[in-house]
Amino acid sequence: MTNYGGAYVLARDRFKAEAAARNEPCWICRGEIDYLSTFDPQRYNPKLFELDHATPTSLGGSITNPNNFRACCKRCNARRGNTDRGLFKTSRSW
Ligand SMILES: [Zn+2]
Repeated sequence: MTNYGGAYVLARDRFKAEAAARNEPCWICRGEIDYLSTFDPQRYNPKLFELDHATPTSLGGSITNPNNFRACCKRCNARRGNTDRGLFKTSRSW
């Protein structure tokens, strides 16, 4: 996996802050997103915020361009099965 480094993390954090300010719903299920909680491996939180890419990076979508970012709940993102999960999900092995 390519290391996209700080540019991606910065863009993601900025996008999350803006989405949280608007209380943006999940772009897939339109459900409420929990922007306040942080990831807890001991407690599954299906409403947790996750960044999804409108055009998957595996299909050439930009990984750092906010125009390609979508606010997504954990449940939908997991169901969608993005190939870029490995970028920031390292704690879980299937
Ligand atoms: Zn959702």
